[in-house]
Amino acid sequence: MGTPISELGEFRLIDRITSPFPKFHNETIRGIGDDAAVLKLNSENYTIITTDVLVEGIHFNLVYTPLKHLGYKAVAVNLSDIAAMNGTPKYITVSIALSAKFSVEAIEQLYSGILAACEKYHVELIGGDTSSSMTGLMISITAIGEVLPQKVTYRSSAKVGDLICVSGDLGAAYLGLQLLEREYKLFKDTPEIQPDFSTKEYLLERQLKPEPRFDILKTLNDAGICPHAMIDISDGLSSEINHICTKSNVGAKIYAHKIPIDTVTSITAEEFNMAPETAALHGGEDYELLFTVNADHLNKLLTIPSISIIGMITEAHEGIKLILQGGNEVDLSTKGWDAFLS
Ligand code: ADP
Ligand code: MG
Repeated sequence: MGTPISELGEFRLIDRITSPFPKFHNETIRGIGDDAAVLKLNSENYTIITTDVLVEGIHFNLVYTPLKHLGYKAVAVNLSDIAAMNGTPKYITVSIALSAKFSVEAIEQLYSGILAACEKYHVELIGGDTSSSMTGLMISITAIGEVLPQKVTYRSSAKVGDLICVSGDLGAAYLGLQLLEREYKLFKDTPEIQPDFSTKEYLLERQLKPEPRFDILKTLNDAGICPHAMIDISDGLSSEINHICTKSNVGAKIYAHKIPIDTVTSITAEEFNMAPETAALHGGEDYELLFTVNADHLNKLLTIPSISIIGMITEAHEGIKLILQGGNEVDLSTKGWDAFLS
């Protein structure tokens, strides 16, 4: 028997399997280890490339995920990784593996969502692959974009003294998933009961139809602000700030009461007996941007409504801390904060 993968976790597994691979080409500006790879294929722009895989039963449940939404989301989450590099998306390839349970019409539904995202973000579908699968559906999308070399935002470029900012609000997508899971379980037991999602539409939309925040990149660019470090929030604020701090060799202070949380998110978190901050810190799939900005831009940032300043970058030895209202500090580099919040 070999080592169970769960013993390493996703990130250490990736490190382990990819570390022996040599670098051969001068065009590789960044390989593995950020939201996307960065290549210098032409003299003007950097080319950005990112891939994600979505597996039925792991990343989505078709009982409550319409295929059109799934197609849209599969594209959106890839484009979000391009956004995290401060890039502009241009092309995608889409590969699917299908079991016999899917009809032509079902796959057309999936592709109508992929098309809607391509139209919205001006992205061209340029290829892919189609295969059969033993069970269920798998979708893998590769997105290709570009960025000017002076604008690219790595995880590794946060500076001590930077303000830590987040776009939009957090925790809603996670609670949307909790609602869908709860209604799915009720439906399995009592099929005649119809789910009632009234007042919770925002949470469902955040879970089923996330949008990459290119609007935020434009707002920042128009304001003359270029973030130092950036990452998109796919796994939760706590995990993403750890990525930035580890790669940048810095620490962070985040103020719990500054984390943007929508009212419906707060109310629903309480219904699930969860502190809203727990959903915001630990729930994923919001696809908002987490970025650090030179503190000289404070006044400009304060005038932008869809951006919240939630903390600041500190020296590495200060660690990654969550400051609770009242002043208590919780270590965010482990999961220890959870018990403190709920
Ligand atoms: P994200 O959550 O932004 O999609 P990941 O954590 O999936 O990022 O990936 C982190 C880095 O590891 C990226 O550079 C990605 O390309 C790389 N990576 C992930 N899985 C593999 C794999 N199986 N083989 C090679 N590289 C991988
Ligand atoms: Mg990412």
